[in-house]
Amino acid sequence: MDQQNTSYDVIIIGAGSVGVPTAYFLSEAGFKALVLDSLPSVGQASNKHAIGGIRATHSEPSKIHLGNRSLAVFSAWKQEHGDDIEWQQGGYSFVAYDQANAAVLKELIAWQQQHDLNISWLNADQLLAVIPNLNPEGLLGGTFSPEDGSASPLKALYAFHKRAVQAGADFHFDERVLDFLRDGERITGVITNRGKYNSQWVINAAGGWAKEISSMIGLDVPVNPDSHEAAITEPVARIFEPMIVDMRSRPGSENFYYYQHPTGKIIFCMTPDPPILGMHTLASSNFLPKAARRLLEIMPILQHIRVRRVWRGTYPMTPDGSPIIGTVDGLDGFVLAVGMCGQGFMFGPGVGLLLTHLLLNELDEADKIILESLSYHRKFKSTEVLK
Ligand SMILES: Cc1cc2nc3c(=O)[nH]c(=O)nc-3n(C[C@H](O)[C@H](O)[C@H](O)COP(=O)(O)OP(=O)(O)OC[C@H]3O[C@@H](n4cnc5c(N)ncnc54)[C@H](O)[C@@H]3O)c2cc1C
Repeated sequence: MDQQNTSYDVIIIGAGSVGVPTAYFLSEAGFKALVLDSLPSVGQASNKHAIGGIRATHSEPSKIHLGNRSLAVFSAWKQEHGDDIEWQQGGYSFVAYDQANAAVLKELIAWQQQHDLNISWLNADQLLAVIPNLNPEGLLGGTFSPEDGSASPLKALYAFHKRAVQAGADFHFDERVLDFLRDGERITGVITNRGKYNSQWVINAAGGWAKEISSMIGLDVPVNPDSHEAAITEPVARIFEPMIVDMRSRPGSENFYYYQHPTGKIIFCMTPDPPILGMHTLASSNFLPKAARRLLEIMPILQHIRVRRVWRGTYPMTPDGSPIIGTVDGLDGFVLAVGMCGQGFMFGPGVGLLLTHLLLNELDEADKIILESLSYHRKFKSTEVLK
């Protein structure tokens, strides 16, 4: 081993959607951080498969807090740091074409507003004024939360990485964590294919590999990857602003969501039904015919648009659809920031801020709410309504 540093305040396993912004916030707060990733650069696993949606529109207080904090970071990033991360504040709209979904969405709104979410219900005419090309047939209305938006997962991670390095973080790529160092109940560092590193804290931010990493210390973490596909079209004139979510289930899919990128391209994604478990990253021939049908069902004006590329990645899923964040009883110095499901890009900065408060021992009321509801020790019984 050369003369590189082997002693850190905190080691972060995984330079993905969560690990990189976390390294930035911890380094800014004065922690000496090392980020380890087995891949050659930042954001090369699930992060680069995300379509970039960022929202505080959720049905759990913990997720509204995380989303709001992340939105504050993404929306101010260019102004504060000068990096263009393609932030676009187009809002989110969950649209309703059936009474059941309209009832679910309307019932949530009063509760969401009480939890500091800027959201309202628009009837069909009001919604068509915001998104004129929605299929009007059968449209009952939908929610609109104007402060949500989108950004580029790769550009955002490059920006967080650059600023984390400036703030003193070390990043080692092509370096795989193989095991942990421990002293009784305390985790004291990690062993990689290149050496050993000591630290006061080790954060598992290994996404779809969270279970494998945690099993090295005998901890069973219920995170299992399932695969999702997405597609991007050629660019067209600007026709709508918000991310649109259609919660109806259709043969082979649970829901469908899409938005128009600042370049004019349409990016769309759907949740397979039943889920496709496993770490698959090769695009299938099933996705596009089903997803294209869904796109045209909701926005027929796009019937002649050409699709340029399809890709497939994974969601690191938990049994209740919510992340697992915080410390673990009986394992000192070990922190989980895993199981981000379909929301790891949008939660990354919020998680980074939360973990910085945790390691500084400066938790505020919102931090405590998040840590309690996303604890490893919870029952995993509830289910997220707005997946
Ligand atoms: C099609 C699709 C669309 C999506 N759209 C969105 C969206 O619009 N908004 C959103 O918020 N989310 C979206 N997601 C989900 C999002 O991509 C994930 O939730 C998020 O990227 C998970 O972040 P992470 O940091 O936990 O994992 P990752 O980004 O996968 O990072 C984990 C890192 O850990 C590293 N690692 C693993 N094992 C080791 C080891 N032993 N040693 C060293 N390093 C290791 C990996 O190489 C990897 O880089 C989407 C996902 C898909 C597939």
